[in-house]
Amino acid sequence: MYRTIRTIRIVIALATMLLPAWALVAGHETVFSNMQILTALLSGSFICLVFWVLATLFYGRIYCSLLCPLGTVMDCMAAVARLVGRRRRAYTYSQPANAVRWLFFVLAVACVLVGGSVLPTLLDPYTDYARMVTQFVVVPLGEYGPGAVFSLSSMSIAAGIALVVAAMSWRHGRRYCNTVCPVGTLLAVPAARSVFHPDINTDKCINCGECERVCKAGCIRLSDHTVDASRCVVCFDCMSVCPNQAITYRQGRHRLGMPMMQPSGGNQPQNFVAPPEESTTIKQEK
Ligand code: SF4
Ligand code: SF4
Ligand code: SF4
Repeated sequence: MYRTIRTIRIVIALATMLLPAWALVAGHETVFSNMQILTALLSGSFICLVFWVLATLFYGRIYCSLLCPLGTVMDCMAAVARLVGRRRRAYTYSQPANAVRWLFFVLAVACVLVGGSVLPTLLDPYTDYARMVTQFVVVPLGEYGPGAVFSLSSMSIAAGIALVVAAMSWRHGRRYCNTVCPVGTLLAVPAARSVFHPDINTDKCINCGECERVCKAGCIRLSDHTVDASRCVVCFDCMSVCPNQAITYRQGRHRLGMPMMQPSGGNQPQNFVAPPEESTTIKQEK
C-alpha cells in the first residue's frame, strides 16, 4: 500500500514542480505562486498560511512533500546522487540544527518587519525556484517577459542558489529544508504535534536499518525507534522499504512492548508496562 501512496506522491510532486515552470514560461505564474506560503505572505495574504498550518497539524509536512517545487528539485538531485553513486548512498540520523534553522527564520521575519525584502525572497523556496526557471529556462528560450530579462546579477544569484541547493541535497537529501528554509522551520512547529505521522512499532521492527538509510530528512533514530515528526517531509520512502511493515503512518504512538527497545537514557514512555516477573521465575525453574 505504501509503495502506491509513494508513487502517487511522486507524481503529484513532479506535477507541482513542472506546472509552475510551464506557467512561468507561459506567463501565468500567479496561479501557482498564490498557493505558496511565503510568496503569499509577502504579498499580504494569510489564507494560504492558515490553510497549510491546519493541514500540517493533521498530516505533517505534506506541503513539503507535495507542493513545494524546490523540495522536489532536491529529491531529484538526491535521486540522481543515489543512482550515480558507486554504492548505494545511505542517509543516517542527524541531530536537529535548531539554532541554525531558527536563526534563518528570525532573520527572515525581522527583515519582513522592517520592510526589507532581499533576504526573505532569497530564502523563499518558491521565489528561488521561479528565479532558477526564469534564468535557466525562460531567458534562454527568449521569452523576455517582465522580470525575465538577462542580467549578470540575476543569473549569478540564481546560479548561486542552485549550487547551494544541489550541493546540500546531493549529499544530505533534505538538509536544506531542515536548516535553511524558513517555511520548513515554520511548518515544523505544527508538524511536531501532527495527528498523523510515521511511527515505529518496536514489536515488529527487526532493526534492519532500511528506513534510516532512505530517510532523506535524517529524522529516524533507530537507537530509540523514534521519528522526529518536525523534520519528516512525509515522503513515504521509509514505509515503502520496511520489510516488516513496522513503520507506518498513523495516529498516536505504538506502545513499546520489548524492554530492550525502550528509549535510551531511561526515558520510559508513560504507558510502558514492565513484563511480568514470573516469566523469569519460570525460566529459572526449567
Ligand atoms: S522545507 Fe522549504 S524548501 Fe523544503 S520542501 Fe518545505 S518549503 Fe520547500
Ligand atoms: S525498516 Fe522497518 S524493520 Fe527495518 S529498522 Fe526500519 S522500522 Fe525496523
Ligand atoms: S521519516 Fe519516512 S516519511 Fe518522513 S522524511 Fe523520513 S523517510 Fe520520509
